[in-house]
Amino acid sequence: MNVERFVRECNRFQWRTIGVGIATVLFMAASFALVIPFRDQIKQFVSERYGLPVAEIVIGLTPFPSVIVVFAGLIWVQRHANRSSELNCPYCWKFVGGMRYLVVATKCCPHCGKRILEVTDD
Ligand SMILES: [Zn+2]
Repeated sequence: MNVERFVRECNRFQWRTIGVGIATVLFMAASFALVIPFRDQIKQFVSERYGLPVAEIVIGLTPFPSVIVVFAGLIWVQRHANRSSELNCPYCWKFVGGMRYLVVATKCCPHCGKRILEVTDD
């Protein structure tokens, strides 16, 4: 595999991870934006049926959907990375995308030590 292709795939992995982070923050902001204007109505509705402690817990669960987004997003990113032949060593199949600079500098897998990138003359 050549260095440019490896770096391009590492950049994609990095941007997907950043995208999950941004989506999480946006989802959390949207959750609060939806709940805060109706906070008192939700709290009153739930406390009439289940009591005040349950209503406090329900309001406290406002950011919970963003937790789902972050975990689902990171699982998606990691599964995608695990299937990528550029981000895994062809010999030991371990993930090397997180050690981009080390792999580019040495051209070798940090786990098994075998050469995985082509050596160019530039
Ligand atoms: Zn290896």
